[in-house]
Amino acid sequence: MTPIGFTRHDHSDCVETSLAAAEAHCAARDLQLTSARRQVLEILLREHRALGAYDIVERMRADGHSPQPPTIYRALEFLGAQGFAHRIERRNAFVACICPGQPHDPMFLICRACDAVAEAQANPAAVDPIARDAGFEIERSSIELEGLCPACRETAA
Ligand SMILES: [Zn+2]
Ligand SMILES: [Zn+2]
Ligand SMILES: [Zn+2]
Repeated sequence: MTPIGFTRHDHSDCVETSLAAAEAHCAARDLQLTSARRQVLEILLREHRALGAYDIVERMRADGHSPQPPTIYRALEFLGAQGFAHRIERRNAFVACICPGQPHDPMFLICRACDAVAEAQANPAAVDPIARDAGFEIERSSIELEGLCPACRETAA
């Protein structure tokens, strides 16, 4: 799978697919996609970029809402727990998942200059033997790679 996020693509497809998946997921489990949860997801879905809780609050204010930070934190927690968003530890920030509802071990390519994030699938064949040799059982994994995205590399060159 090619990482999705840096290259030009039909982004309206990403938004529609993810919102539809989130709605179906919540309906099937009797969970509420409250307006705060939905607004936060929509903001994360606007760009493939890592956003911190305060970036999200600012964008919601720009949209004319008056969000309370604790509501945003709880919404992010919900979106993360349900697999609609991933936490980017290196940035203390979040990105919308590109394949919500599908079990996967994400690998993130994070641009240090513009915070663009592309999500790809980690390759278990590379990691599993290392864990096995160490007698370690992997329960979850999230790999973060930091560097420069194609656009920023071009600007830097
Ligand atoms: Zn997209
Ligand atoms: Zn994902
Ligand atoms: Zn960049």
